[in-house]
Amino acid sequence: MDLLSQIGCRDWEEAGRKMHEFASELFPICRSITGDGIRQTLAMIGDRIPLEISSVPSGTEVFDWTVPKEWNIRDAFIQDARGQRVVDFRNCNLHVLNYSVPVHSTMPLEELRKHLFTIPEHHDWIPYRTSYYKPEWGFCLSHRQLESLRDGDYSVRIDSSLEDGRLNYGECYLRGRSSDEVLISVHACHPSLANDNLSGVVVSAFLAKALSGQELHYSYRFLFIPGTIGAITWLARNQERVQRIRHGLVLTCVGDSGGFHYKRSRRGDAEIDRAVAHVLRHCGESSEMLEFSPYGYDERQYCSPGFNLPVGCLMRSVWGSFPEYHTSADNLDFIKPQQLARTLRVCADTIDVLENNRRYVNQSPFCEPQLGKRGLYPSTGGAGLADALSARLWVLNLSDGQHSLLDIGERSGLPFSSIKEAADTLLAGGLLALSPERAEHSSDTA
Ligand SMILES: [Zn+2]
Repeated sequence: MDLLSQIGCRDWEEAGRKMHEFASELFPICRSITGDGIRQTLAMIGDRIPLEISSVPSGTEVFDWTVPKEWNIRDAFIQDARGQRVVDFRNCNLHVLNYSVPVHSTMPLEELRKHLFTIPEHHDWIPYRTSYYKPEWGFCLSHRQLESLRDGDYSVRIDSSLEDGRLNYGECYLRGRSSDEVLISVHACHPSLANDNLSGVVVSAFLAKALSGQELHYSYRFLFIPGTIGAITWLARNQERVQRIRHGLVLTCVGDSGGFHYKRSRRGDAEIDRAVAHVLRHCGESSEMLEFSPYGYDERQYCSPGFNLPVGCLMRSVWGSFPEYHTSADNLDFIKPQQLARTLRVCADTIDVLENNRRYVNQSPFCEPQLGKRGLYPSTGGAGLADALSARLWVLNLSDGQHSLLDIGERSGLPFSSIKEAADTLLAGGLLALSPERAEHSSDTA
């Protein structure tokens, strides 16, 4: 697949740069699970890929949850007795406890302290805190800022609103030959945080752009949603169609300098789990496989027992495990263009596996066919040729209609791309025939 030209890039380096630029454009917006911030974010994604935006009214019941009131914020500050803003939302949107109810009051420092959050271990970092489902107000500030506050009265103002409104999410649907779907889901509800939130958003948006206009077997559904409540809402409104989802990935924290981590689906051995494991083994970076657990991001909802969808979670550093997580240090310097590009590549390679994971039947299964007389035996030496021969021999041997190309890749230790190339060559040379069924059962009804 010619993915790079589809996103208007000459090479992966340029793709990384462009993704980082898009993250920089989205970074200043004060997002939350509802409100103008996420709407503006969805509109900016919609400028790049076809995006259908859904609106769900506050108060809508979604399984055991209720869509909350819509939160918007205009300004917030703590002002000292001289009228100086000592904490100012305009400098950093993390300063306000996300979903704070409005407040306009004057109080002594002692009372104000109950509403202040800091990270004592990191003096200059501002924490990111939320209170979506409990009416609360508060400020997040650096510990250094807190220590500089003298006793006395402070004027406190949070100019926010929490009213009946809407929850919004965006969907980009790319139709393939089959109505079976691949789901890619990212949360887009965090304010100025880069790795947790924006890295997944930009990689997903670029992946959608790269796939649009390609000849695809599967249909692809990209979701840009508020975390937890967004996934729950989407699942509640699409309960009938989720069985079409054959493979799925949640992308989060995919731009930092760490190696890859992949959390398997609840099923543990879904084709997506095997495909990602295979791609990561050959990606040239360190990677670790993690078993499913019921904490994390929206894979929790997709993998809840009623759905049990084959959805895993691709990360670099694992959420919650790096000190910058949910702090102002998760900024645009924390995510690297090169890392975003490599993640995009891993996603594209995984999709390549899913799209092409077919079974073949050797048409000359009694002893080895003579490759030389068909011009299929590499005539000169070299490591590349040895691998090419090895891939052809593996494909011929295991193409009995039972083994998929991914099975052959796993068993041979060769990358999927080599196995696929060998299968293409042998198919063209008349030694293979396509097995009528795809590797996994599917319903081609589109
Ligand atoms: Zn988060």
